[in-house]
Amino acid sequence: MLSTRVLSRFRAQKITKLSTAAGRCFSTGPDTPSPLDEDTGKHELWREGIYDHDNEPMVRRRDGSFQPLEKLRGFINYQRNPEPYRDPLERVTDWGELNPTSEDVDLKHNSVERKVQAARCMDCGTPFCSTHSGCPVNNKIPEWNTLVYEDQMQEAIDRLHSTNNFPEFTGRVCPAPCEGACVAGLVDNPVTIKNIEYAIVDKAWEDGYITPRVPKTRTGMSVAIVGSGPSGLAAADQLNQMGHNVTIFEREDRIGGLLMYGIPNMKLSKDTVDRRVDLLRQEGIEFVTNANIGENIDINELRSNFDALTLCIGATMPRDLPIPGRDLKGVHFAMEFLTKNQKRLLMTSEGALESNWSKDDFITAAGKDVIVIGGGDTGTDCIGTSMRHRCRSVTNFELMPVPPHERASDNPWPQWPRVYGVDYGHAEVAAVFGEDPRVYSVMTKEFLGDDDGNLRALVTQEVEITKTGPVPIDGTEKEWETDLAILSMGFIAPESYVSDELGLEVDQRNNIHAIYGDYRTSTEGVFAAGDCRRGQSLVVWAINEGRGVADACNSFLEKKKDAEMGNQGDAKFAGLV
Ligand SMILES: Cc1cc2nc3c(=O)[nH]c(=O)nc-3n(C[C@H](O)[C@H](O)[C@H](O)COP(=O)(O)OP(=O)(O)OC[C@H]3O[C@@H](n4cnc5c(N)ncnc54)[C@H](O)[C@@H]3O)c2cc1C
Ligand code: SF4
Repeated sequence: MLSTRVLSRFRAQKITKLSTAAGRCFSTGPDTPSPLDEDTGKHELWREGIYDHDNEPMVRRRDGSFQPLEKLRGFINYQRNPEPYRDPLERVTDWGELNPTSEDVDLKHNSVERKVQAARCMDCGTPFCSTHSGCPVNNKIPEWNTLVYEDQMQEAIDRLHSTNNFPEFTGRVCPAPCEGACVAGLVDNPVTIKNIEYAIVDKAWEDGYITPRVPKTRTGMSVAIVGSGPSGLAAADQLNQMGHNVTIFEREDRIGGLLMYGIPNMKLSKDTVDRRVDLLRQEGIEFVTNANIGENIDINELRSNFDALTLCIGATMPRDLPIPGRDLKGVHFAMEFLTKNQKRLLMTSEGALESNWSKDDFITAAGKDVIVIGGGDTGTDCIGTSMRHRCRSVTNFELMPVPPHERASDNPWPQWPRVYGVDYGHAEVAAVFGEDPRVYSVMTKEFLGDDDGNLRALVTQEVEITKTGPVPIDGTEKEWETDLAILSMGFIAPESYVSDELGLEVDQRNNIHAIYGDYRTSTEGVFAAGDCRRGQSLVVWAINEGRGVADACNSFLEKKKDAEMGNQGDAKFAGLV
């Protein structure tokens, strides 16, 4: 019934189930079957008997037998079983998260299945998952896997929070390099680390283990943080807990950076972001929105009013495609499309945000033939958003050829596996329209318009990737009908007005120059972290940098305070003589 409804809504020709022919590919997203993964269901439970010990859960092992759960040989006895996303045909009809809710009892892992998956963590001795080739915040993964196995969920969240300020964000959106580096992944499928992280933090919120921690003492030193994305929030959290007075300035009308206005609802619900921001507020961090530093607030005034300044302004300048027809109506940057959609979804009941956002001011993909140029997370989010707008069709161009289905020889474990995968948006298109939207090894040459300046088609050419870059292949030009082309080819650098105003040095890629681990810019008392320093990256790297810049900023503040106290002491002493 559902498929017929969805079918008519999309005016699609045919619905087929997502093909599993992808076979031996790797993805941490539950839409992709992973290598050697034959087990798609839950580990069945079998309980009987009248005594308590008879009611111990008996779980199915790989050999088909049912025995009590054990961890010692968990990775041998149990198969990887990631918690599946909601059915693509159902979820494209709403903006709810991909992850099942507690109401989706058929999909959501129960506590026994969670323990089975945690039992697969093999006490490998050197947990590569937690090292630099794995988790960027060095989450203590084996420790919390053991705690989950032992049902010690409160200890598990404490251990998780000791390295990661916002596991509810990473548990939802992280591509999980940890799983690419998991030792079990050498011979079998990796542990479902990301699922377990998500389960720990969601249970902790549910059970009330996450409560405001208001610092008992204050240092009297103050920090201004510009930008409220994950790096700014992590820096603020750390500095606040160290006792400094922290104020975050954000030019948007809501806090969260790309967590709020970039990553769409289906990957990360905005209630999840607001819940953490509210907690930080209760812990004493101040938030100032609609504060565009360098535009409506003088940056030098900010510098003189605070003891330190930390820039976490992201890398928001998109890569353009300067080809004929670029100015036609219907060609847009990905972030215009995504941000406007997000603002529309977040409209208040009065019909406007504080920024006086109008509900008509957004780009719709409804009924359109959409072409998304460029892949990655942003490209997938444009596909998923177009599907929810009920586009007529969606195609995704990739410049690079189809990645291998298994690791190439120059991409060994424990590196991040650069292999073929099916992300949520691709799965949705395949489920609704019957085929994967991706077209590989093509470049866009020209946009074509009608007499009114509207986009009507574009022209591509196939390319061959050589050592010197992509080379177009003669005679392979092709015209594609489209009335909405979305440019999703990455981001080149942070906007420059803040660094120009402060006279900061930038690096070769025009990111703010500050050495990783040190975070000091070329101007005394000014620090930089996150995407504006390292270039567009991941939420987990932003958290890593936010934590790092907090340490650097704290050392600076301690020295500044010592110097000030020294000066006061000298002055008093001078008054006595
Ligand atoms: C569409 C999209 C999807 C993504 N999906 C994923 C994903 O699934 N998983 C993942 O790990 N990563 C993903 N990323 C990347 C991730 O979101 C970023 O790497 C991360 O948010 C960077 O954090 P940040 O704090 O450095 O910057 P941002 O999150 O960009 O935050 C910077 C903030 O600074 C504010 N700002 C800038 N200049 C000023 C100023 N002058 N005054 C005041 N405020 C200012 C901006 O408004 C913004 O709110 C995605 C990115 C995009 C664009
Ligand atoms: S933050 Fe990312 S890399 Fe680290 S444990 Fe979680 S999913 Fe893995």
